[in-house]
Amino acid sequence: MRDLVKVVLPDSELPKAWYNILADLPTPPPPPLHPGTKQPVGPADLEPLFPREIILQEVSTERWIEIPEPVREVYRLWRPTPLIRARRLEASLRTPARIYYKYEGTSPAGSHKPNTAVAQAFYNQQAGVRRLTTETGAGQWGSALAMACQMFGLECTVYMVRVSYQQKPYRRVLMETWGAEVVPSPSDRTRAGRAIREQNPDSPGSLGIAISEAVEDAATHDDTKYSLGSVLNHVLLHQTVIGLEAKRQMELFDDYPDVVIGCIGGGSNFAGLSFPFLQDKLRGRDLRVVAVEPTACPTLTRGRYLYDFGDTARMTPLVKMYTLGHTFVPPRIHAGGLRYHGDAPTVCLLYDQGYIEAVAYPQNAVFEAAVTFARTEGIPPAPESAHAVRRAIDEALACRESGESKAILFNLSGHGHFDLAAYEEYLAGRLQDFDYPEADIQRALEGLEELQPA
Ligand SMILES: *Cc1c(COP(=O)(O)O)cnc(C)c1O
Repeated sequence: MRDLVKVVLPDSELPKAWYNILADLPTPPPPPLHPGTKQPVGPADLEPLFPREIILQEVSTERWIEIPEPVREVYRLWRPTPLIRARRLEASLRTPARIYYKYEGTSPAGSHKPNTAVAQAFYNQQAGVRRLTTETGAGQWGSALAMACQMFGLECTVYMVRVSYQQKPYRRVLMETWGAEVVPSPSDRTRAGRAIREQNPDSPGSLGIAISEAVEDAATHDDTKYSLGSVLNHVLLHQTVIGLEAKRQMELFDDYPDVVIGCIGGGSNFAGLSFPFLQDKLRGRDLRVVAVEPTACPTLTRGRYLYDFGDTARMTPLVKMYTLGHTFVPPRIHAGGLRYHGDAPTVCLLYDQGYIEAVAYPQNAVFEAAVTFARTEGIPPAPESAHAVRRAIDEALACRESGESKAILFNLSGHGHFDLAAYEEYLAGRLQDFDYPEADIQRALEGLEELQPA
C-alpha cells in the first residue's frame, strides 16, 4: 500500500445498486409544493415531464435501487472511474495530509454528468418517449444528455444559455456530433423565451430561463419529456455510483476520509461522492463533508432556506432549498456549472441540520489551485471542480500548520479541456473576482415570503 498511486476497480466491481439517502435522513425533506394550492405535488403533477419510473425514484425511500443492466453496460465504457492519491500535490504542499481524488473526467463527456444522463435516457426509452428536452449552461449537461440519448435511440433538444452558445462553440459541436439539436436560449420557440426577448432582445440568457423553455417544450408535446441534470432526488441517486466506488477504493488504499469535499452547482457531483459517506456519518461516524461554491453565486453560504421556484418563469413546483431567489441572474463567472440560484433539497436539508459545511471562494483563488493541480497531478480541472481542489489544498495546508495527517477526499468532477479560454484569462491576469453585493441578494429574495406555505 505504501506507494500506491491509484486504485482502478475491475468491471466486475461496478456497483449493482444506487444508494438512496432518503432512506436514512433524520427527518423527511419538506415536500415540493404546487405554487397555486401550496399543497404537496403528487406524482400525477410530474407525469407531463418525467416517465413513471423516474417519478417513483424521485419519491422512493428504498435504500438501494437496482441499476438496470443496460445502464451498467453503458457505464462500463468508462466506469469504474479511478481513485487517485495526489502524492505529487502532497509533496509540493509539504503537507502530512493524504489527498485523494475521484476522477470523473474519464467519461466521454469529460464529467460526472453522464452517470444520470444514461439512466434517464434509458428510463425514457423504456417508457416509449421519442424526444428529450433539456437546458444547458456551459454545455456539460447538454453534451452528457446528447450522448446518452444517442445511445438509447432518442432525439434530444438542448436549450443552451445564449452567452455560452456564443462563447463556447466547441461544446455545441460536441452535442451536434452526438446528434442533438442545440437552440440558443432565450429563443423564439417557446412563450417563455419570446416573453424575455420582447423585454430584452439582447438577453444573455440564464439557466433559469433555459429551464423554463425546455420544460414548456416538453409539457406541450406528447411524445417529449424533460430531463434535468442536477438538483432532483433521482439525479443525486444516480450519481451515488461515484461515492460507492470511492468507498471501495478507499478500502483498498486501507484508508477512510476525515473530510469529503465537492464543488456545488445544483449538488449532484457533491451528493454523488458524499452521500454514501454521509450514510456512515448519519450512523455516528466522525467525518466532515464540505460543499464548495463560488462567491459570485453563494447559495448555501449567503442564501436563505425557503420555498422557491426552480426556474425564472415560475413554472416548476416550489421547492424548499437554500436560494438566492429565482430572479437571480449570476455574473458571468467561468465556472458556468456553479451559477444556479438554488441547490438540491436533500443537500440543503443536511446543511440546515449541520451534517454538511459550506464555503465560498472567489475565482482567482480557484484558478490558482487549478494551475497548482495541473502542474503537479497533470490534469487541468474543470473550473467547477477546481473549487473542490482549492478547498482540498486549504485543508492540506491546515494540516501542515497543525501537523495532523488527515485523509482528504475530493471529487474531481471533470477536466477543463473545453475551458482553456478561462485558463488563458487567469494566466494573463485578466480574471475578475466577484462578490455578489448584499443589496442585490436582498432584492432577488424580495417577494419570496409570499411563496411560503402558511
Ligand atoms: C455541471 C458540473 C458541476 C456542477 O453541477 P452539480 O450538479 O453541482 O454537480 C460540477 N462539475 C462539473 C465538471 C460539471 O460539469
